[in-house]
Amino acid sequence: MSKMVKCVHCGDKMSIIRVNKYSRPHGAALIGIGLLFLIALPVEAILSLVLLPFGAVVFFSKKEVWSCPSCSSMTEMAHR
Ligand SMILES: [Zn+2]
Repeated sequence: MSKMVKCVHCGDKMSIIRVNKYSRPHGAALIGIGLLFLIALPVEAILSLVLLPFGAVVFFSKKEVWSCPSCSSMTEMAHR
């Protein structure tokens, strides 16, 4: 990764940082609902087998974006 990206706002050189890919509260909510099923509804506990890993992925997923150290604007990386 030696590609140079210039900030569209101030023209400074941007660097790659890692940020949360999805909304963390959403991930936490999915994990919470999964745990609730596990504890309160044994019949629906099978759902928690889906909700818990999915929630964990949402909660912990990171993505790399270009960030400007000068004005801290962020740009999504182009995916190909
Ligand atoms: Zn900038």
